[in-house]
Amino acid sequence: MSEYNDSALGEKETGYVRTVRSLRELIDLVTGRDFQADLPHEDAGLADVMPFPFLALVGQQEMKLSLLLSIINPLVSGVLLVGPRGTGKTTTARSLVELLPSVERSNCFYGCLPEDILSGGMDAVCPDCARKFGEGLPLTTSDRVRLIELPLHASIEDVVGWLDDKAEAHKRVRLQRGILANADLNVLYVDEVNLLNDDIVNAILDAAASGVYTVRRGAISASYRARFNLVGSMNPEEGNLRPQIMDRFGLRVIVRGLEDPTERVEAYQRSRAYRVNPRAAVAQFQPETLLARDEIQAARTLLGRVEIPASITKAGTTIIQEMRIDSLRAEITLFEAARALAAADARAQVSLDDLRLVAPMALRLRRSEFMVDYFEHRRKEEDELHKLIQKM
Ligand SMILES: [Zn+2]
Repeated sequence: MSEYNDSALGEKETGYVRTVRSLRELIDLVTGRDFQADLPHEDAGLADVMPFPFLALVGQQEMKLSLLLSIINPLVSGVLLVGPRGTGKTTTARSLVELLPSVERSNCFYGCLPEDILSGGMDAVCPDCARKFGEGLPLTTSDRVRLIELPLHASIEDVVGWLDDKAEAHKRVRLQRGILANADLNVLYVDEVNLLNDDIVNAILDAAASGVYTVRRGAISASYRARFNLVGSMNPEEGNLRPQIMDRFGLRVIVRGLEDPTERVEAYQRSRAYRVNPRAAVAQFQPETLLARDEIQAARTLLGRVEIPASITKAGTTIIQEMRIDSLRAEITLFEAARALAAADARAQVSLDDLRLVAPMALRLRRSEFMVDYFEHRRKEEDELHKLIQKM
């Protein structure tokens, strides 16, 4: 990672002087650090609630690491947090948005972007945007990343949107966008993903994988952009996730409560300070938050140049075979998470240690015991059959 000691940016923008060498070091930056817990009470009122600072979350290194890798490299395909209630899954997902740099959003109802004109010409955008572009007016506005939470009882129309009936009668298709469209360039958090209908989860996972969603009605269809970082969570006490759906989540983290009493006290104090005075509590960790945001942006820039040596891909495929995992998604997540980790540590080459660190998150909960047994039985049957054929 970058050196912040002498850099003007480091001192001016973050007011924070130190060197961060790795993503793990970044995650632990504020662990055990002094902070003012005894804050004067301040009513946050109806102001936009500031999320709890991501780096100030105590412990839970694997949960934090997986989420950071997923925002550095979208090919990781999202994160699934598995664990009981009250272990900070939702708080952590909400905190993540503060680490994302601001994004350029379309000002137009149809979602027109300047890059549409660059790739497809003036016909690729609506007449209004074509005019604005011609006059040199901006088509987008810089905006912060938000956390979009999927309500548990959302219908499939709420999620994907629909094509308007009345508009159809006038031969003009009007697309009503759903939650997936609102999630564009945001983080989509799906709590209790195991309790949702399969059609809703499949729609979310399709959009997460392709970055677009197409709504169809008869012969008519319309598409919108839905590029988001997906974070799902589930409490295994409340039911399982079907294997087909589980397979489509990239990283998987088992989240347990904190075990170290010192950590629990620290977590309590920070959480109390945040409740009493969110603004002052968040401000105390702001230098580290800004530093982390810069580091993540640097990692995203470097990512395209990170390579995996052949010996590392071989080691990765070997462990996947030995674990008897069939899905090719295992390789994609394993190698893309390893690339994100190397990029975060400012290296252009993946090491065996990168692979070792991300392998549990990428490979756990992927083996199907059913399929392992099934293949074993089929193999026995096949052997028996061939022996009998030989004897014929
Ligand atoms: Zn437009």
